[in-house]
Amino acid sequence: MTRKTLFALFTPFFLTVLAFASAARAADSRPNIVFIFTDDHCTQALSAYDPERISTPNMDRIAEGGMRFNRCYVTNALCGPSRAVIQTGKYSHINGFMRNGQSFNMEQQTFPKLLQKAGYQTAIVGKWHLEVTPQGYDYYDVLVGQGPYYNPPMITKGEDGKPVTRKHTGYTTEIIAEKSLHWLKEDRDPDKPFMLMFQHKAPHRNWCPAPKYLNWLDDVEIPEPETLWDDYSNRASPARNQAMTVANHLNDSDLKFVPPKYLNEKQLKVWNAAYEPKNEAFRKMNLSGKDLIRWKYQRYAKDYLRCVKSVDDAIGQVMDYLEEAGLADNTIVMYSSDQGWYLGEHGWFDKRWMYEESLRTPLLVKWPGVVKPGSDNNDIVSNLDFAETFLEMAGLEVPDDMQGRSLVPLLKGHTPEDWRQTFYYHYYEYPGAHDVARHYGVTDGKKKLIHYYELNEWEMFDLEKDPNELNSVYGKEEYTADQSEMMAELSRLREKFKLPEQDPPESFRPARKKPNQQNKKKPAKKE
Ligand code: CA
Repeated sequence: MTRKTLFALFTPFFLTVLAFASAARAADSRPNIVFIFTDDHCTQALSAYDPERISTPNMDRIAEGGMRFNRCYVTNALCGPSRAVIQTGKYSHINGFMRNGQSFNMEQQTFPKLLQKAGYQTAIVGKWHLEVTPQGYDYYDVLVGQGPYYNPPMITKGEDGKPVTRKHTGYTTEIIAEKSLHWLKEDRDPDKPFMLMFQHKAPHRNWCPAPKYLNWLDDVEIPEPETLWDDYSNRASPARNQAMTVANHLNDSDLKFVPPKYLNEKQLKVWNAAYEPKNEAFRKMNLSGKDLIRWKYQRYAKDYLRCVKSVDDAIGQVMDYLEEAGLADNTIVMYSSDQGWYLGEHGWFDKRWMYEESLRTPLLVKWPGVVKPGSDNNDIVSNLDFAETFLEMAGLEVPDDMQGRSLVPLLKGHTPEDWRQTFYYHYYEYPGAHDVARHYGVTDGKKKLIHYYELNEWEMFDLEKDPNELNSVYGKEEYTADQSEMMAELSRLREKFKLPEQDPPESFRPARKKPNQQNKKKPAKKE
């Protein structure tokens, strides 16, 4: 075949491709983004990472069709702060939202505002938790604060453009899915690309399952984590002085000895029919000691997994819709959680620590035609990078004042040579729920150095030899060189990320307790 013949054969094909490409450009072919976000969901309860406790087929669809990140670290393992980091691409001390209970400064630059300005339709449905009316969204319908698991009031934009609170009946995870699907199907402008933040309350404390899953896993025994019986020796004092143990700190609502207050009569009947026989059986066993702790762990872990199961179903509905509507090929689906979680590891529930289980959060990204299906990434990435990533996905410049870096090159399979090798973490909420001391630290994925700076106590872990972080090697002679290296890196990162010399700034401290309240029991503060 001559070159001329080849040319004659292929020219019509290339012209057709070009014509399609320009038509698509005219209609704005920038990719849609669906960011699926949960609260307190750990990789131990996501089968694409760990199939031992639960099967999450719909989350796994994202991993199978895209990239699984194995070292996605959060900068501050707490609900509100993580959301503020994602909005801004900046550490807590820069975006100003360092601990729960603060109000996010909505006047600052956020990635949804930048996407909206660039012609994206933006929406957020579900948990917002930044204690301020959302800005930068064409549509918002968000839970009030933490939001309940059933019958949630939600805040949306009223006809006059002002926020209005509306009541809903049903299971919150399902309501968030229905609202998201309604917006995708009926309300958005099909000629514009969109960015939807599909954000769940689940599986946050106190783990109230949907009616259909109240008895799911009843006959199954959930494996206990290796460190369930941790005694907190060989570490600094904060690990011993926290208030988040499965043994002692789960309350009657957590353990479902009392039903949630927000159920209606019909829901309560279904709830009691599920839990009363189980509670009766528990009372008859008259457990104590380790047997009682084991029982508590099973009750807690099962309710947590039941909540995850409903989220997985909801994700399936949205993924199915994207496929049915022909949107899947040009829609990026990204899954993450605001931080990791202790599903009994170290004997705990909750998060906050720089230890691996809460530092590390799931991150799965499906981007048809760009990300190689079923691929894995082991670089250190962070929720600090999400805003930058969304902007680059949309073809926008990343502002210089953002502190993370776009993951787009990694998603394309090419990690830049100067990608971060170390990561800075900082937790601020003390005094606060669960009594975790303020700390900051650095890790390179192999070693980790933590400073409990108000106590001036340190820990260092050799993650390769001690992945469960049970033995601090801080101050040990054989680690002198590593320790100096990590100390120097910690200082470098604190300077790079513009940490104030004094941590934390006085203005972010909560009001001090009066001396006569010091010994009173803390109110059951929600986290
Ligand atoms: Ca959380």
